[in-house]
Amino acid sequence: MSNVPVAVVTGSNKGIGFAIVRALCKQFPGDVYLTARDPGRGQKAVAKLQEEGLCVLFHQLDIDDLQSIRALRDFLKEKYGGLNVLVNNAGIAFKVHDTTPFAVQAEVTLKTNFFGTRNVCTELLPLVKPYGKVVNVSSMVSSSALGGCSRELQQKFRSDTITEDELVELMTKFVEDTKKSVHEKEGWPNTAYGVSKIGVTVLSRIQARMLNEKRKGDHILLNACCPGWVRTDMAGPQATKSPDEGAETPVYLALLPSDADGPHGQFLSNKTVRSW
Ligand code: NAP
Repeated sequence: MSNVPVAVVTGSNKGIGFAIVRALCKQFPGDVYLTARDPGRGQKAVAKLQEEGLCVLFHQLDIDDLQSIRALRDFLKEKYGGLNVLVNNAGIAFKVHDTTPFAVQAEVTLKTNFFGTRNVCTELLPLVKPYGKVVNVSSMVSSSALGGCSRELQQKFRSDTITEDELVELMTKFVEDTKKSVHEKEGWPNTAYGVSKIGVTVLSRIQARMLNEKRKGDHILLNACCPGWVRTDMAGPQATKSPDEGAETPVYLALLPSDADGPHGQFLSNKTVRSW
């Protein structure tokens, strides 16, 4: 088994994830894994970084596929006995003018952004080694979508005692409510992406609390963040930040020094803790 520290970035064949891997290759003292759901796209991305003279490794990972997540888990367990840095970056968004019915957009978006990310956490968090770092890439849109929720939902999402099961129930209810066209009446905002990212931010707050309760001595720091508005296939060419600039906050959180006791359980943008 290798004692080398290891970092894994989900959805990193392009966009912000690719830029996070590039930065980690330059700054993380260990093995860095670029992962992609499509091995062809993943290997192409690896080749690009190798052309830049960087040393990067590849593993397949589709966060929608539990078998794929578990294959990565078993690989990390066997080869490294765990992992040191996990960046949950993989995500999807329908374009604003997409005509796919809202209920379908809700189901598909939540499936990857919330349920897929949660499944990765369920399988990989127990493997994170002491002093490890976990970064969940959310979005400022989670804050604005929270503002668009009913007062009752806002209270639930801001609660310091909400459980992961309760959050899963709420995310499932959103999808069900969109199918019955009652989501607005039920207090939800009209954004599937926004609700999925509320899920990611709240999940991060819950997971950080669980780490405090169950693995207090392990000094693991887990946070959610927004990369900013970044020029990628998701956000388009008008966005203000380059992918490398978008990677800055996630990389800052992934590389917090081992004597740092925070941030933990926070939501950050531009390397600054934001209120939730
Ligand atoms: P992007 O260019 O569309 O890249 C998304 C990445 O996620 C791609 O590598 C994609 O792989 C991967 N992915 C999607 N579904 C996956 C799955 N089921 N399993 C594994 N990988 C999957 O988007 P981006 O702008 O870099 O976004 C990265 C993250 O930042 C997302 O979580 C996004 O919500 C968040 N974010 C972005 C912005 C922005 O302005 N760009 C702002 C706030 C937050 P394929 O190539 O196979 O599709």
